[in-house]
Amino acid sequence: MPSAKSGFDVIIVGSGLGGLTAAALLARYGRRALVCESHSLPGGAAHAFQRQGFTFDSGPSFYCGLADSTGCNPLKQVLDVIDEPIEAIAYDPLGHYHFPEQTFPVYGDSQRYQQALSQVSQQAAQEFAQLEAKLLKLYAPLRAIPTLALRADWQLGMALLPRYPKALLSLLPRLADLGKSMSDFVDDTVSDPWLRRLIDLECFLLSGLKAHDTVAPEMAFMFGERANSVIDYPIGGSGAIVEALVRGLKRWGGELRLGAHVEQIWVEQGRVKGVQLKDGEQLTAPVVISNATLWDTYGQLLSTDDLPASYRQEALATPAVDSFMHLHLGIRAEGLEALTIHHVVVHSAERDITAPGNTCMISIPTVLDPSQAPAGHHVVHAYTLEPWDGWQRDEHYAEKKRQRAEPLFQALEKVIPDLRDRIVVELIGTPLTHRRFLRRYQGTYGPAIAAGQGLFPSCQTPIKGLYRVGDSTLPGIGVPAVVASGILCANHLVSLKESMSLLEQWQEKR
Ligand SMILES: Cc1cc2nc3c(=O)[nH]c(=O)nc-3n(C[C@H](O)[C@H](O)[C@H](O)COP(=O)(O)OP(=O)(O)OC[C@H]3O[C@@H](n4cnc5c(N)ncnc54)[C@H](O)[C@@H]3O)c2cc1C
Repeated sequence: MPSAKSGFDVIIVGSGLGGLTAAALLARYGRRALVCESHSLPGGAAHAFQRQGFTFDSGPSFYCGLADSTGCNPLKQVLDVIDEPIEAIAYDPLGHYHFPEQTFPVYGDSQRYQQALSQVSQQAAQEFAQLEAKLLKLYAPLRAIPTLALRADWQLGMALLPRYPKALLSLLPRLADLGKSMSDFVDDTVSDPWLRRLIDLECFLLSGLKAHDTVAPEMAFMFGERANSVIDYPIGGSGAIVEALVRGLKRWGGELRLGAHVEQIWVEQGRVKGVQLKDGEQLTAPVVISNATLWDTYGQLLSTDDLPASYRQEALATPAVDSFMHLHLGIRAEGLEALTIHHVVVHSAERDITAPGNTCMISIPTVLDPSQAPAGHHVVHAYTLEPWDGWQRDEHYAEKKRQRAEPLFQALEKVIPDLRDRIVVELIGTPLTHRRFLRRYQGTYGPAIAAGQGLFPSCQTPIKGLYRVGDSTLPGIGVPAVVASGILCANHLVSLKESMSLLEQWQEKR
């Protein structure tokens, strides 16, 4: 590629939270980092968009410890080191679960959560307390090691041993637990069928899988953070997180190009050379990090012969969680003063919680941050799983879209009975919308890698200089996890001395 533009140390394909984290951290380490984002807005699944004065979160809205300097949220650690802290509003209860038979509040605070559970079943409350105590034992040593100290290579031991010997020692007897599924913990402790269903639901909300398939440390981390840190929502919405990471990237000399779709990752003789954009422009760098999903990276961005055939085949065979139906609404807010931010509605106890349309997630962030809607209005996001297969833009599309969004309207009516009379803006998204705006294979939520059936792959690939970050790499799906993936990759690409020096600066400032 003789005409290719060079001058970058690293090119990052995609500005999801995993890609932005890796890019901003590498810029912080003094690397010349360029992010190429296909979409006109940064943030991937976490991007925010505006319509008629309403600001919509396209994906995540549930966070923990964004502004808590005593917590261990990886995103907070990154925002600290790039000097871009954000403000967030703490709240509890974190949400309400609406089962067909009853509604109850879910608290981060353990005592209050157990009280709420005891209103439903004394046995459930007791068993939950035992389960939580077991999970917190796993969480405690994990909490003591900041994500910023981690890296994806053999030098990890050299980073951790001198600094966190006590945490490592207390983790030793629990090493076997790290590979366990949540149901290994639940089976030992919980016999109440209602509580088992609740735990399945909580696992599903995090991983897209039920307890049997969800890895225990992921849930231990979630329970631990909920109980030990604060549940908080970023002022300005998820877009404020993305903006902070982009500001941090630029502040430390990095670049972001929007509308820059990477058509191909350029590889020669097993080594990455750079990328080619859709408009034909070629950019070179010795390191490329793909934030696209594993299916998009290996199936679309590389040529078939860039990877060993068996590796490619095995990677592309990774099962994927379904995509989504989305409902974004702007509604009139009069008379809704008692509304709370998060709701999960399970329509039928007979159907599986993972069945499309049966479990609906709802977020109404303007109850905490009114700045995201015109005065007197709320912004609403509801979503539920929806399979990819069968969706196409044909003459039935509009009707099917309406029909498949109906469970979302019905879920919202459990929270706001006269919802349909209040709507001033209505946007329905399908798996095709999700695929289009997030550039994700089949619009998937992420890999369905069940506990015990394999691990999420690390950031390294068989191609020299090519790395991956995001929710199809270790540790998995969700904002803390994808940010952790960006940290692991960035730290792997700098010397141990550099990463430890940044860690020490961060610890001194805390
Ligand atoms: C509806 C929904 C709700 C969620 N709620 C929560 C929540 O409340 N809390 C939580 O912790 N997690 C939540 N999650 C999960 C979390 O949002 C995701 O796991 C995370 O944001 C994914 O980040 P990522 O870095 O893997 O990549 P993505 O967000 O997928 O970003 C990848 C980026 O790469 C770009 N890209 C892809 N291919 C190319 C290319 N060829 N050229 C250039 N750019 C490209 C895409 O446009 C995109 O911007 C939710 C997810 C969804 C979908």
